[in-house]
Amino acid sequence: MLLASALAWLGTGTKEGYILAILLCVFAVMISVFAKEMEKLVHESFLIRHQRDRLVEQLDRERQQVALARDHAEQAYNAKSRFLAAASHDLRQPLHALSLFSATLALHARSHEVRDISDHIGRALSSLTALVNSLLDISKLDARAVSPELQAVDALAVIERVVADYGPAAARKGLDVRIVPCHAVVHTDPMLLDRVLRNLIDNAIKYTARGLVKVAMRPKTDKLQIIVQDSGEGIPEAERQRIFEEFYQIGNSERDRTKGLGLGLAIVKRIAHLIGTEVSLSSEIGRGSRFAFHVPLASSMPVPNACESSPAADGDTLRGRSVIIIDDEPDVRVGMRRLLEAWGCAALVCAGLDDARHLLEEHQPKLDLIVVDFRLRAGESGIEAVEELRRRLGPVPALLVTGDTAPERLKEAEASGLPMLHKPVAPEALRMAMVSAMSVG
Ligand code: ADP
Repeated sequence: MLLASALAWLGTGTKEGYILAILLCVFAVMISVFAKEMEKLVHESFLIRHQRDRLVEQLDRERQQVALARDHAEQAYNAKSRFLAAASHDLRQPLHALSLFSATLALHARSHEVRDISDHIGRALSSLTALVNSLLDISKLDARAVSPELQAVDALAVIERVVADYGPAAARKGLDVRIVPCHAVVHTDPMLLDRVLRNLIDNAIKYTARGLVKVAMRPKTDKLQIIVQDSGEGIPEAERQRIFEEFYQIGNSERDRTKGLGLGLAIVKRIAHLIGTEVSLSSEIGRGSRFAFHVPLASSMPVPNACESSPAADGDTLRGRSVIIIDDEPDVRVGMRRLLEAWGCAALVCAGLDDARHLLEEHQPKLDLIVVDFRLRAGESGIEAVEELRRRLGPVPALLVTGDTAPERLKEAEASGLPMLHKPVAPEALRMAMVSAMSVG
């Protein structure tokens, strides 16, 4: 149409006609160029939209794949935690029986050779027990089965207790362990604080050949900083994150068990998270390492009574004592009887409540202590057994031994108010608990 008008204007033969015809032609060319560009743009935007739709679809697919992979990873993680919990739980019973037999063997060992073998068995059992306990700790922490019980805690008392426990280990290596004290009441879970300190101090002593291990307390505005510092071998920068992973150890590719298990710091990291802190690490190769964390100060809260000192486990306190053992595991019954007899006790063993009733009716023994498994066969519980025995015999002291790890079962056991031991029980811990129960009762 524009070209037709241009031709018409050209036909007028006037100067204006020529100018208008040229302008119309230029205009026509511009419009056609513009139209072409527009067409290209529309086409490109169509392509872009198409491409975008494809990308969105691809992204959706990838998102689904990521979600699937995350689900798989979570399932694998949960399966691992369940496996660890089940394995460590099932290992506790035979390990408990083994500890009892091993301690009895040590007491009966007359020849040097048997004593040597018995020492080796004892050491192997200790590391196995430590491994099972650490696995159980990790699985309980992963399963969120540990909930901190926050209270006012005398931090110095906790530190002093842990340092005192490690005194002999430090002395064997000629190490000086020093506390830089301050009196601070903190708001935390004392058991969990104890676990963190134990692991850090244990490492500080283990990885320091000479010099000093220092536990310093530094009050900040509303927090207390606790530092465990050593003059040991130090930790290379590249390893400082990885050592907090499970089973990660520096320079123990042969997995020599005497060099630890590689679980201590993994436990520390989880507990620190649980009590709302984070452990920081600085280190210098050949000069030492420094682990630090914070706990909130709780100066306005009263500190609960300091722990009563537990009585020394004195063998003679057990001699001549009459103890009834109720446990549904035959191996544990035999192991307990042998060990208690070796300590000079008269041990009466029963598999359950019925057995115990018969024994009481037939022999009418005078009992000094009841040691009972928390979970007995046929749905019977150790707490019921203690209640029934006490109804018949009066307030006999009692100890509950449990291989249970499920938090609700443990809460039930704790609610009974009876002193509780966790399988596998180290023979020395059993002896101390027996002495303590009888001296209180
Ligand atoms: P474990 O001590 O049983 O091997 P941990 O998880 O407690 O396991 O520690 C992991 C690794 O970190 C150790 O194997 C050790 O190499 C290193 N490590 C931990 N604490 C220290 C320390 N204070 N000094 C030097 N190395 C350390």
